[in-house]
Amino acid sequence: MQKVTSETEVTQKRFDKLIETLSDVIESDPLKALDSILVARESALALNDIESVAKFYQFEGICLFKLSRFPEALKAIYVALDEFTKLENYPVIIACQIEIGLCYMSLGDFSDGIEWLELALTNSKKHNRPKGVFTSLSNIRDAEMKLGNFEQALKYGEQSLLLAKELNSDYLIANELLELGVTHVKLGQRDFDIDPEESFKRFEVGYDLFCQARETSEKNKIYGFEVAILNAQTTVLAELGQIAQAFATSDLALHEAEHTDDPSVRADIEKTRGWLYFKTGQTAKSSIHYEKALEIYSAISKKDEIANTHRELAQVSKSSHQFAEALEHLEKFYALDAQLRSDAAERRAQALAAKLDLEKARHDAEMHRVRSEELAALNLQLQAQAVLLEKLARQDELTGLANRRRLEEFAIQAFADSRKNNTSLSMAMADLDFFKGVNDRFGHATGDDVMRVLGAVLRKVCPDGALAARFGGEEFVLILPNIKADAAFALCEKIRVMIETYNWKQLHPKLSVTISLGLSDSQDAGTHERLLSLADLRLYEAKNAGRNCTRPQHQSQTSDP
Ligand code: GH3
Ligand code: MG
Ligand code: MG
Repeated sequence: MQKVTSETEVTQKRFDKLIETLSDVIESDPLKALDSILVARESALALNDIESVAKFYQFEGICLFKLSRFPEALKAIYVALDEFTKLENYPVIIACQIEIGLCYMSLGDFSDGIEWLELALTNSKKHNRPKGVFTSLSNIRDAEMKLGNFEQALKYGEQSLLLAKELNSDYLIANELLELGVTHVKLGQRDFDIDPEESFKRFEVGYDLFCQARETSEKNKIYGFEVAILNAQTTVLAELGQIAQAFATSDLALHEAEHTDDPSVRADIEKTRGWLYFKTGQTAKSSIHYEKALEIYSAISKKDEIANTHRELAQVSKSSHQFAEALEHLEKFYALDAQLRSDAAERRAQALAAKLDLEKARHDAEMHRVRSEELAALNLQLQAQAVLLEKLARQDELTGLANRRRLEEFAIQAFADSRKNNTSLSMAMADLDFFKGVNDRFGHATGDDVMRVLGAVLRKVCPDGALAARFGGEEFVLILPNIKADAAFALCEKIRVMIETYNWKQLHPKLSVTISLGLSDSQDAGTHERLLSLADLRLYEAKNAGRNCTRPQHQSQTSDP
């Protein structure tokens, strides 16, 4: 036992250590982390404790997520969630719910994604997890933005900004300010044709938010981030009609972008610059910047942005009357757009398949559990029945005493014990006197009742460790280990007198019953059968002596009615 415990401890330690080191590796090299996690799988399963198994699946899910293997990630995290739910470990339950939401969103299933994030949000609020509240809110905001529900995005974005402030993280605050500003700008652009005045207000709010974001982010010196803010500011300045300032900001962004190694940030700036030149009627320059953006987006395979850039380039070509080029860009845009749509449909199908797989696995597990429970119950029932059958197989039905089979087993064991330990062993054989006459005069049923009474008497006087059995017909046997001849004789006499003096009138007014008994106690009988036949011999003598008496093996004792 001690050894098992220490082995388990060693495995547990190894597993915990692995998980600890994995947290870093997952970020830098998810593929390597996934390899290690498969080693952890064996430890987790060997430990066979829910928490280790749950951790294993959660980490596997995170690795798979980082590797963009979303359907597999989804399955692993679902299993982890089921396990953590059993443990009622809410911080991790919330983390899993968020991860599931993000998997769905990555698979393009935004409605399922939002549903899971809402669940995480509710749980985070209930269990007072501000980080969970923040992560849920900001991710729902992202999903609503992707769906084009800018009003909803605004609602969630305002809340997540408050949470970021509560969490007192400059980085998060700056990001939330930027996102909120972008949402305002998008709303303004969308409604510009309907209500330009209102749109202008939105642009101003957006600009203000960007300024706050920049102020906050300057404390952190995260270049990519500041550049993104400058780029957003460029757009809103142009929308506000401050073209010169917009260009100056874009120059600054371009300059700052040299410090970042994130090519998509550079591409975004080039694209914004292309848009700015187009907006100010400088189509030749616009094309140059759009083409630069296109080059970078192509290098990093950012398909959605490649498509968008082609569409905008088509506009530029059209306005400079280069219709052949415009058509070419439009064709490229439509081809890519179709491909993006079919990719998205494919991912949504994968999400659905993963969900169905999981439901089936859960259903199977539930069926398995129910079946196991049913089997366990049935097993218990069978065990109880087996015990009962075992008992019945060794019991005489009429008298409730041991039957011949049990008698045989007991006699063999008692004889062997007495031999081995050199202890005394007595056996008594009892037989009802003139029982045929009882049946004849009072009926077989009364005869049965008489036997039941004799059975009850024998059971009552039978000492601990001894056995009273029905030998067959109206003959009974007592096996009395550790009881010497004298004590055995006294016991037989007690029984005989109890039967003789029993109130038989309650069965029939004219009924009277007696028994005769024969005893043996020889230790040199050789076999238990021999000992029993000696008792039978003495019983025969008791019958011959006139019945209602006990005959011992040795003639020193006798009894007479
Ligand atoms: P003895 O004093 O010499 O033993 O005379 P007896 O009549 O008791 O002996 P015998 O062997 O002639 O008869 C035994 C009777 O026991 C015959 C049989 O009907 C009866 N008997 C055996 N088993 C049962 C039983 O289960 N129920 C009833 N009611 N009678 C039984
Ligand atoms: Mg008899
Ligand atoms: Mg008999």
